[in-house]
Amino acid sequence: MTRPDLIVIGGGPAGASIAALAALRGARTVLIEKDRFPRDKVCGEFLSPEGCAVLARLGLLDALIAKGAMPMDACLLADAKGRSVEAPLPDLPRAGRTAFGISRAVLDETLLNHAASCGVTVREHVVAIRPLLEAGRVTGVTTRPANAGGGDEEVGATLVIAADGRRSMLQRALHPAIGDPLTTSPTSWFGFKAHFPDRTRGLSRRIELYVFDGGYAGLGPVEGGRLDLALIARVDALSACGNSPQRLFEERMLQNPLLAERLRSDPHCSPWKTIGPLRFNVRTPASHGAIFLGDAAGTIDPFSGEGMSNALRSAELAFPFVIDALASGGLTPASARAWSSVWRGAFAPVTRRARLFGRIFQYPRPASLAMSLLRLPHGARWLPSLVAATRTGVV
Ligand SMILES: Cc1cc2nc3c(=O)[nH]c(=O)nc-3n(C[C@H](O)[C@H](O)[C@H](O)COP(=O)(O)OP(=O)(O)OC[C@H]3O[C@@H](n4cnc5c(N)ncnc54)[C@H](O)[C@@H]3O)c2cc1C
Repeated sequence: MTRPDLIVIGGGPAGASIAALAALRGARTVLIEKDRFPRDKVCGEFLSPEGCAVLARLGLLDALIAKGAMPMDACLLADAKGRSVEAPLPDLPRAGRTAFGISRAVLDETLLNHAASCGVTVREHVVAIRPLLEAGRVTGVTTRPANAGGGDEEVGATLVIAADGRRSMLQRALHPAIGDPLTTSPTSWFGFKAHFPDRTRGLSRRIELYVFDGGYAGLGPVEGGRLDLALIARVDALSACGNSPQRLFEERMLQNPLLAERLRSDPHCSPWKTIGPLRFNVRTPASHGAIFLGDAAGTIDPFSGEGMSNALRSAELAFPFVIDALASGGLTPASARAWSSVWRGAFAPVTRRARLFGRIFQYPRPASLAMSLLRLPHGARWLPSLVAATRTGVV
């Protein structure tokens, strides 16, 4: 293979979009993705208006709407007693208030196909297993076929971008002190998702958040007449239900009369998909001459509904630094500092706020208090501010 200018690890929203942008500028770009698309993923599949704005700029939003993306412009928050409060989504400057629900199978495949059509060499079912390091700088990666057939390969490039998600191989290799993300602690979270038949006609264009003892769930419409139910649960809540997402759903979530009404007695139409343990934190957006994007730079609590938008937007914000690094023969220390400061300014405060709100709503007492305040006369007007506080508004 000809030596590429740029290696991108990971073909999710962050990786596919930065690879497409770089290739359109003429960079020889290789994207390494361990899965084969389309593939399902645990996610609420709620694409906030900020992310929709990026997709519109990439020329993909209309195609996703044509594929059945479902619009949402209001949110509803319900607690375990079935009390609820509803409000329009915040109308953020330049992003508007319309979000879309689209499955990760369709969204991620559309983005990856777009990258390939822009000239990116996409290598699916290939895992980046370790970085190549020279004088403390990342100069490439060693890859391995995901199906164990074939040998390891070393690929060098001017710049390596890690967009390999919350368990980023590159973050762990360069910063072993961050620990093993697969270690479960008493405060660990697990994530689950299932699709249900939609008998609500698109949930009246709402995204709904359901708080229960030990976690919370998001319910939103996606293409194909389905509702996506994605939840995160503390490990103690999960173990109290025999580590079964179906029991957690039946014993804790369906106690909520509103959610029970939405899903009626439907058996869920897809098997539960599980991930975890999860950690929500800010990491390093640049180090050892490499750039980190999306969840690899910092993982936001899904309470915000901003993870995919942050991933897409981080790619756009990084683009000038990528072009500069390719022209300069690598990421200079000054550029690394400047990119880190841009990333932190855009995403660090909101990542911390989302974690705080996520924690408030995982415990019945603070959640109940927050709900009582929101249900006071005029209290509902605080709901958009609460939601907006967990959004970057960076468009
Ligand atoms: C329960 C839950 C619900 C969520 N709900 C929402 C929501 O409703 N809206 C929202 O915006 N966000 C949501 N998120 C967050 C969202 O899923 C992530 O923030 C988003 O996927 C990050 O995009 P990314 O491109 O950075 O990483 P990812 O989408 O994780 O993509 C990383 C890619 O890298 C690949 N990869 C990983 N390691 C390697 C390797 N070593 N070699 C090659 N390839 C590799 C992976 O296969 C993957 O395709 C939710 C998260 C959870 C846990």
